[in-house]
Amino acid sequence: MLTGKNYIGLNLSGTGTTTFQSINPSSGESLATVFFEATQEEVDQACVLAETAFPLFQSTSIGERANFLVAIAEEIDASMELEEMYCLESGLDTTRFRVERSRTTNQLRSFADHIQKGYWLEASIDTAQSNNGLQQDLRRCMEGIGPVVVFGASNFPLAYSTAGGDTASALAAGCPVIVKSHPMHPGTGELVAQAIIRAAKRTNMPEGVFSNLNSLSFTTGQKLVQHPSVKAVGFTGSYSGGKALFDLSVRRDEPIPFFAEMGSLNPVFLSKQAQSLNSEELAEKLAISITNDAGQFCTKPGLIFIEACIDSEEFINSLGEHIMAKTNKTMLGAGILNNFRRTSSDLVKLGTEAFVRESTDKGHGTNTLLVVNGNDFLSNPQMHEEVFGPFSIVVLCSEIGMIHKCVRSLKGQLTGTIHCEKEEIEKYKGLFELVRQKSGRMIYNGVPTGVRVCGSMTHGGPFPASTDPRFTAVGVDAMRRFLRPVSYQNYPDILLPDCLKDKNILSIPRRINGEMNNYSDVQKNGE
Ligand code: NAP
Repeated sequence: MLTGKNYIGLNLSGTGTTTFQSINPSSGESLATVFFEATQEEVDQACVLAETAFPLFQSTSIGERANFLVAIAEEIDASMELEEMYCLESGLDTTRFRVERSRTTNQLRSFADHIQKGYWLEASIDTAQSNNGLQQDLRRCMEGIGPVVVFGASNFPLAYSTAGGDTASALAAGCPVIVKSHPMHPGTGELVAQAIIRAAKRTNMPEGVFSNLNSLSFTTGQKLVQHPSVKAVGFTGSYSGGKALFDLSVRRDEPIPFFAEMGSLNPVFLSKQAQSLNSEELAEKLAISITNDAGQFCTKPGLIFIEACIDSEEFINSLGEHIMAKTNKTMLGAGILNNFRRTSSDLVKLGTEAFVRESTDKGHGTNTLLVVNGNDFLSNPQMHEEVFGPFSIVVLCSEIGMIHKCVRSLKGQLTGTIHCEKEEIEKYKGLFELVRQKSGRMIYNGVPTGVRVCGSMTHGGPFPASTDPRFTAVGVDAMRRFLRPVSYQNYPDILLPDCLKDKNILSIPRRINGEMNNYSDVQKNGE
């Protein structure tokens, strides 16, 4: 049952006077539960509690933390009210709910599995070498950075929100989490928070390992980012939100790492042969990728560069028709819809041609494909910004040199996709290289939507796709964002973390005196 209150560790608290309700985007009606925005005192309580919980949580064993993550997944799977609340608050359908829930719970389970393998500890041991005069015994491993604040995005109420990738990776790293609940789905957020709290109780996790705070305005998030007890932030959302909070985090007396995953245009490039061979199939694939769930994906293809050829006109018409054939869908909320309508209609005025599926339903986004040429693209900064919704721009370029110019003008991207036949690869080598410099994930003959959760995934990219291109926000390596290296010099075995003791009691891979020395114990000189 929903309470509308803040979860400060195990305590429910609603002492503030600012309240709000979530809105069903399909009907425009307010939902029943009244949510209490967190006050400054509640923000302080959650942050101080997380700071107190940190050393206790760090000292839990890897197995105990893995059990906690699995218990969260089980509690989410068992929550009976979640599906209805998710659909009511987001306008997304039950199929999407099931896909997102299983992605979220599989993600939690994959972190549980991963931490037990121990690679992430990056255990490194350099024993004292008496023969070269270096007497220090130095050992290093990765440890949790401290309490982490998580901001979820509106478009993934589960997978990028309360128990999404940022929360799972921070908890896996042994960092307590304070979630700034998204005001567009606070009910979904509270039900997931309840699942996390139940799991924490079941697995005897320390009080304060998780808190969930409601907010209507930006101020709660701003207070959290600036709180001295907070040591890192995971953010998923818009460029404007991510950049504003990033600036706050670096201006603190103690600057902290701020990992923002933001918007992207995800350029796609079509060679001449790609437009002529299997063109119907490609047009359909792209149309689905652009319009699925009202185009509300950070990996939606927002730009399609086409090298002009005899088949271009037919391909563009076919893509436009496929896009118009897709049903318009309800957008996540009035703010996102208004923003979409404003930006897409401004851009449509600048194109040479547009395919638009009009809609009479007031909550729907309108599937739109705009056609421009390379010079239009280069001279219009507006076309270089994400349009969040079912919208894409075809940039028709007279020759490959113009495509290169356009790519050079692009900002950092989550993904870059190139469609060409194998025999064309040599011709497009320069393009592959240019796109790689701008992108976190390179795709050959595919679509960028559909982000697989696995160890080899990079979900991030050069700014402004993310604020730190060295990390991924998806996949088990996402936890590296919330770890820091700690070295131990001449430490007695009894004081060392388990992963660094002479005996490899965790049975993990370790680097010993410069060599990967899988699963063995430390052999000292003369032993
Ligand atoms: P959003 O408006 O930026 O909201 C995300 C969170 O940031 C919310 O909790 C919001 O709080 C907070 N926020 C936004 N601006 C703020 C500010 N100036 N100061 C303090 N807090 C602020 O984004 P959204 O509409 O939820 O999500 C859509 C965007 O997310 C799209 O651009 C999409 O591409 C991107 N996205 C990226 C990824 C990725 O992995 N790269 C994944 C999913 C979505 P309030 O709501 O309280 O304002």
